[in-house]
Amino acid sequence: MNCPYCNCEETKVIDSRESKDGSSIKRRRECLKCEKRFSTLEKILKLDLEVLKSNGDVEEFNFQKIKRSIMKACEKRPITLEQIEVVLENILSDIKKIELQQLPTTQIGKMVLRNLKEVDEIAFLKFAIVHNNYGSMKDFIGEIEKLNDFEQIDYKSI
Ligand SMILES: [Zn+2]
Repeated sequence: MNCPYCNCEETKVIDSRESKDGSSIKRRRECLKCEKRFSTLEKILKLDLEVLKSNGDVEEFNFQKIKRSIMKACEKRPITLEQIEVVLENILSDIKKIELQQLPTTQIGKMVLRNLKEVDEIAFLKFAIVHNNYGSMKDFIGEIEKLNDFEQIDYKSI
């Protein structure tokens, strides 16, 4: 990274600090030419992950998409933006545990549901109805009952 003062390419790192949650690193640098100091912030922009859709299509993982559908499920519910942010952070940390390069949409849906359930049951049901194609009321109830086993997601074999 070039020095912002003199545009020199040679800089050295004099201090490096990771954020508490480990999602970013702040580095203090010094230019080798003009000796001025500046900071850089390194953050994860994109996960190297693909999504496998139920029709067999593969697409790039897009966290914004998940965010939009959660916002939609939370519409008109007494949920604060802060609560939604927490849900999103928890989902993202679930996703980061995955050791696969391709993640089926059904698994993403389960992660969303598991995290949404703790915040608001109606938002949880709304999300479940929109994103799972239930054939009948019986299927729906069966699936909802299965959601109680969410604690045991096996990140290595899904
Ligand atoms: Zn410089």
